[in-house]
Order: sequence, then structure tokens, then C-alpha cells
Amino acid sequence: MAMLTRARNGLMKISETIVPPRDARAFEVPAGHFFRIASIEGPQVGDLNLWNAHDLSERFFSGKTRALHATHVTTGNQLWSTLPNLRPLATITHDTLGWYGFDADGGGVHDVIGTRCDPYTHRLLSGGDYHHCCHSNLTRALASARSMDVREAEIHVHDVLNVFMCTGFTRDTHQYFMKASPVRPGDFIEFFAEIDLLAALSACPGGDCGAEHSSDVARCYPLKVEVFKPANSALLGWQSPPRNAYPRTHGL
Ligand SMILES: [Zn+2]
Repeated sequence: MAMLTRARNGLMKISETIVPPRDARAFEVPAGHFFRIASIEGPQVGDLNLWNAHDLSERFFSGKTRALHATHVTTGNQLWSTLPNLRPLATITHDTLGWYGFDADGGGVHDVIGTRCDPYTHRLLSGGDYHHCCHSNLTRALASARSMDVREAEIHVHDVLNVFMCTGFTRDTHQYFMKASPVRPGDFIEFFAEIDLLAALSACPGGDCGAEHSSDVARCYPLKVEVFKPANSALLGWQSPPRNAYPRTHGL
């Protein structure tokens, strides 16, 4: 972290992506670069997917990240990849909502306990079809980025990091809850890419997720993604982490 903190001082912006409300965009981040997700016009939650840019079977592992760190992540935590790789995809290097911690209800921000809003659960619960859930937004963004059929892209979409979302479990029955995100324009969360990443970010149709999902009712705002390159000398001695060394023999 000391090296990454120093490297943050000499960042040069190399790209910017605006994610429209109720939609998603994909973007690439080379290993050794930083990326920021920022609130720009109003309180808005983002659903983030991460893949190895060269091998989509290696992707963000929300459950293991939760087990290794906590229900909610912040500066210093890492986002881990799926088995059999199990290595950090990204390290969180700054979080302007770090002050929030856990509130009196047990709620925190940037969770790895929820999944993503999706049209299947929506149909199960309400019977209707809604096409701008984060699951569908991420699917369309990946399909577009990799010129894939939407059904092929869908199987690569996975449980997200819920950026800026405020969630927890009720104290009495331990059921999942969400409340309005404290994020405001100017807030951002920043990551260091440990390997070459393909990422997709959805600006959730729930807006600040204080009321409902899977509809056009909530006020929604765009999110901004910026990618930064550090100074050449800033990462001297740093190496991209290798895949986990377990030989995959599983006792045979
Ligand atoms: Zn959503």
C-alpha cells in the first residue's frame, strides 16, 4: 500500500467513460494502472464486474472477497478472482466514503453481499419484464465490447461489487436490506489493476437504491470512470500477481 499511495501522486489520465443512467459500459484497465468510479450528477449506485482481459473465465469472486475481507470493502482491501486462479484482480487505493464505516443499523457501503438486480428475480417477484436491470445492462455492455451474442455474454456476468450501495443485514432476522446511498457528486472509489482487466459498470436503475429496483421510477444519474497511468518509476519492483500455485490434482 505504501508504494501504491506514493504512485497515486503522479497519475496521468488516459481515458474517461461516462456510464449513462440505467445502462452500462465496458472499459479496459492495463495492469499497473489505476481507475476511479465517481459520482458526478447525483447519488447513484454502480454494479461492477471485472474479468481477466485475456481470459473471461477468470472473474471477480464476490463470495471469497467477502470471506477474506468483510461484507463491505474499502481502502486496502483487494478484489479476488475465481478458482482456480484466486489472485487479486484489483486493490482499493482510495475511498471517499471510507468515513461511513458501519451505521447504527449495521449498514455499510460498497458491499459484496448483494448480487445484482436481474430480470429473472424481477419476473419471479412481480411477473413483469424489465430490461434495464444491472444484469442485463452488464450483459449488453460485455456483448458490445467483445462482439458477442447477448446470450453468450450473459454467462460471463457475475456477482458484483456494489459500488456506493448502502446495505446490511437486519439485526433481528439477518435479512438483506438496502437504504439510500450516502454518495454525493465528487465522491469516488479508486482501484489499482493488478492484472490486465476488462471491466463493466452498470448505473443501477435503483438510483441511490433507497426505494425500488427494476423499474423506471427512481431518479438515476450517470457515473464517470477514469483510467490513470502512474509515472514509469512509481512501480519499481512491482509484479503482477501469478495465478494461485495449487497444482489442481484434488487428491488424485
Ligand atoms: Zn442494479
